[in-house]
Amino acid sequence: MTKTIVIAPGDGIGQEVTPIAAKTLEIFHPEWTYIPVELGYEHYQKTGIPLSDDVLLTMKESDAILFGAITTPPSKDYGSILLRIRKDLDLYANIRPIQAPGIDIIIVRENTEGLYSGIEWREKDRACTVRVVSEVATRRIIRHAIELAKKRRGHLTIGTKANVLASDAYFYEIALDEISKDTDPIIHTMQYIDALVLDVLQRPTRYDVIVTTNMFGDILSDAAAYLCSGLGMVPSANFGSSYHALFEPVHGSAPDIAGTNRANPVAAIRSAALLMQYLGDSEGAVYIETAIQNTWEAGLKTKDLGGNASTTEFSDEFLRQLSALVQ
Ligand code: ATP
Repeated sequence: MTKTIVIAPGDGIGQEVTPIAAKTLEIFHPEWTYIPVELGYEHYQKTGIPLSDDVLLTMKESDAILFGAITTPPSKDYGSILLRIRKDLDLYANIRPIQAPGIDIIIVRENTEGLYSGIEWREKDRACTVRVVSEVATRRIIRHAIELAKKRRGHLTIGTKANVLASDAYFYEIALDEISKDTDPIIHTMQYIDALVLDVLQRPTRYDVIVTTNMFGDILSDAAAYLCSGLGMVPSANFGSSYHALFEPVHGSAPDIAGTNRANPVAAIRSAALLMQYLGDSEGAVYIETAIQNTWEAGLKTKDLGGNASTTEFSDEFLRQLSALVQ
């Protein structure tokens, strides 16, 4: 059956890595409809609009979105459009797999509130951001994490700062209540987020599914990307209560290397693999991972992995390897 996929490269290296991820999808699914859209800060500089209502509607009507990255300048006049997309499409669960030889962790990050609530203001001599933890958002993210853990090794870690923040004490309280609803409650532990970041790096094999609030999840997953050799390697998926789904690399637009043909496209390619899995094609993901490994073994690694290959050189060889595998 045909599917409609929105391709949103966005800003910076998003424009360099998304085309290869889109080509990967097209190799496996030429029958799907691909709709390219423009959005982000560069689009805003050209048109005065970072995210049009039309683009948002196209996203809402699609089966899945392949997203690149966007630049959000620290300005009081320019809000993050990714936050708007997540809120408008109610993509409340951000799933970030941290996978490397011997390591298999999934970070489940609450995506709609916490410190990214968007409730903030400036006063004369201070600025305030409200950290929101609501019962409904906490229950659904904890439920999502429980169900995920049940399908895996059955262990859930809850990352909080419940000893300091009332909002996190509430998050933990709701989590325990949600866990207790199951007749056979899952094995779970709570760890303070600061110690948890260090422990995940030092003893990653102890972890299965980790659930935490929005900003803690953002920081934890960037730090945990170290276990996979860096941000250029980690994909993510965003799911909600309806059929909407958005797939994107964990990394941002990387302005420091944008335009230099140095970005590692693996996180974007793996995001395409997650998209295919979501739409029922699990076999394709295995081919994609094999083609990535074969490309490295052929000596083509990007700079972040200690190699000399450009984005284009890696991508060309990867597509050659992939085509050879699927023929
Ligand atoms: P955001 O706030 O949008 O998540 P960020 O400020 O965390 O973005 P990134 O854009 O993710 O920053 O970049 C962080 C660092 O990682 C930069 O030095 C960048 O060059 C590097 N980096 C990110 N993605 C890649 C990639 N795909 N390949 C190589 N290096 C990358």
